[in-house]
Amino acid sequence: MAAARAKARSGEARARCHRAPGPPQRPKPRRTTRRCRADTVTARRSRSSAGGRRAGSNRARSRAPRAAVFGGECARGASFKAWCVPCLVSLDTLQELCRKEKLTCKSIGITKRNLNNYEVEYLCDYKVVKGVEYYLVKWKGWPDSTNTWEPLWNLRCPQLLQQFSDDKNTYLSQGRKRKAITSKDNNKSLQPAVAEYIVQKARQRIALQRWQDYLNRRKNHKGMIFVENTVDLEGPPSDFYYINEYRPAPGITLNSEATFGCSCTNCFFEKCCPAEAGVVLAYNKNRQIKIQPGTPIYECNSRCRCGPDCPNRIVQKGTQYSLCIFRTSNGCGWGVKTLVKIKRMSFVMEYVGEVITSEEAERRGQLYDNKGITYLFDLDYESDEFTVDAARYGNVSHFVNHSCDPNLQVFSVFIDNLDTRLPRIALFSTRTIKAGEELTFDYQMKGSGELSSDSIDYSPARKRVRTQCKCGAETCRGYLN
Ligand SMILES: [Zn+2]
Ligand SMILES: [Zn+2]
Ligand SMILES: [Zn+2]
Ligand SMILES: [Zn+2]
Repeated sequence: MAAARAKARSGEARARCHRAPGPPQRPKPRRTTRRCRADTVTARRSRSSAGGRRAGSNRARSRAPRAAVFGGECARGASFKAWCVPCLVSLDTLQELCRKEKLTCKSIGITKRNLNNYEVEYLCDYKVVKGVEYYLVKWKGWPDSTNTWEPLWNLRCPQLLQQFSDDKNTYLSQGRKRKAITSKDNNKSLQPAVAEYIVQKARQRIALQRWQDYLNRRKNHKGMIFVENTVDLEGPPSDFYYINEYRPAPGITLNSEATFGCSCTNCFFEKCCPAEAGVVLAYNKNRQIKIQPGTPIYECNSRCRCGPDCPNRIVQKGTQYSLCIFRTSNGCGWGVKTLVKIKRMSFVMEYVGEVITSEEAERRGQLYDNKGITYLFDLDYESDEFTVDAARYGNVSHFVNHSCDPNLQVFSVFIDNLDTRLPRIALFSTRTIKAGEELTFDYQMKGSGELSSDSIDYSPARKRVRTQCKCGAETCRGYLN
């Protein structure tokens, strides 16, 4: 797909990764609070180890110190590794720098041989001179200042040519009587506005592809994450970092190993971990949730003697479905749709973010207030101490929109962390969800299946900014808060 041409360049040296400046801190909006509560269930798990494994089952898990946290990445590993800083500069940019400085660097694939190779990254403009068609080429790994006009016969990139034509047509179809080509003395050229749109679209496509690669590199579950925007020119969010599990704020500790584990030979039939906590097993044999919203899920944990195929290990295995973060056409920003059919009552994804204290949530809430959308989820299953903030750090759930008639339902989950103040939040399907359908949950819904009292509370301290709901459901309550 790439056209190559050669230019003689010389010089050789070693290039190194440079540390880029950190991302700017920008507050995100918040108004309403997502809630998860189980008022009806007060069963506390016994802290004794009755029936559990005792001495001899000392499976210690060591973790390297969480030293360098940078750009959402956390460098773990051997002690020297803990001081490594991940390079935030993309491979393309590094290659571009190398070529610009005429340096070779084997580890990023720039060798003497390909130092002078040229590949078409995208096409920027079009013209016809004396009957010959030309395209303005952006060369991969080269800055815009090195773009060149190439005759059509010189280009071997049919997909990029098709993309160029498609983008041109999309632009023309959007406007009223838009004209793409202007003619002058037998020569033709593209309207600057059209060319500008095509370049923006090409850059957006590259940025979204890079972001999709980043998300899939970071995620640790089976389902793939795709990104799609056929609606507008919005690129990836600038201040969002993908995480797979809770990121506790300084001072908050999440236990990474349970104090108790079962020793069943078959967790489905025996008195297993849920029974120890005074609740029933949450799943049926088809791995579907069978308990009422509001009842907590107690899954088998790292101390249990059962294996990975235990029927009581569902949420901990992560998202199994391929999902797509897509741009909605009804003004709801990004949304998430499933690319495969999801059976009813199935685990879809976890809601993760930074775990912060409620006081901190209150403080951030004030900062987030303006735009109305919230990423704050109160963990008020049993106490009001903690909140999950998914504004900057989160997983796919960050992009799931609200609906007053949602197809996902919230449950509190305990696995290795049995502290009832800090449940994990899992989203399960309420019905069969077809491939291509958008996933939604009710931001105001508590784990008990009731509406949060916050939705009708007025804060006397400050004027309430109400955010209109665009969910379109027949039962729409009209507002998100
Ligand atoms: Zn068991
Ligand atoms: Zn167990
Ligand atoms: Zn088990
Ligand atoms: Zn609604």
